Amino acid sequence: MDRDRSASSPKTKIGIMGGTFNPIHYGHLVTAEEALYQFQLDTVIFMPTGRPPHKSRKDLASAEDRYLMTVIATASNSRFTVSRMEVDRKSTTYSIDTLKELRKIYGEEVDLYFITGADAIFDILTWKEPETAVKLCKFIAATRPGYDLKKIESLREMLMGKKEVDPKNNIIYDMEIPALAISSTDIRRRVREGRAITYLLPDGVMNYIYKMGLYKNSS
Ligand code: ATP
Ligand code: MG
Repeated sequence: MDRDRSASSPKTKIGIMGGTFNPIHYGHLVTAEEALYQFQLDTVIFMPTGRPPHKSRKDLASAEDRYLMTVIATASNSRFTVSRMEVDRKSTTYSIDTLKELRKIYGEEVDLYFITGADAIFDILTWKEPETAVKLCKFIAATRPGYDLKKIESLREMLMGKKEVDPKNNIIYDMEIPALAISSTDIRRRVREGRAITYLLPDGVMNYIYKMGLYKNSS
């Protein structure tokens, strides 16, 4: 596991936890908390997607519901905030546009870290302008059950031209987290089948799902 050696840098370090959050669950929260600690981030901004390009629309809760569930789940953590940037965007959401906007807002005075699970880091390859993305921010890929972190080496090679890079020039870090085989897909399936979802996500989010009748008839 390689680490950012420039940890003593006085720059503010901001983590961006992007996701559909359909719904948000403990896998997301543990990942963000571990990134805060392991990379000494000052804050993590949760960024629910508006209209994600890669997801089917059928069982996608509205952007507003996903935003509110993310607020409920993160409210008690003073280092977590939630952004409406993507939710309010009218067109299809691309993470690259968000990164460009964040750079514009914060200028060069901050280090941006895009936090993903080991599965989602590979989506970078399907992003618009991956070569621009790696200039705008660094990436943290968290272990996720069923995904091989070794593949990140080939991703590094693809985006940076080599497998082994000097840690201070690195832009893709891997991060070990306590493995949680929780997914939003599984939670939606459980709701549809009338099975319990307690202990997979915060109670407030679970209550919101039931109150609003989300995912009952999804397929
Ligand atoms: P879905 O099943 O609908 O794809 P998901 O559980 O994968 O949902 P997303 O909103 O797609 O959740 O994920 C947002 C980010 O969180 C992604 O980078 C994903 O890799 C990461 N992530 C999701 N669940 C976990 C988990 N259990 N452990 C580590 N990372 C996770
Ligand atoms: Mg996913």
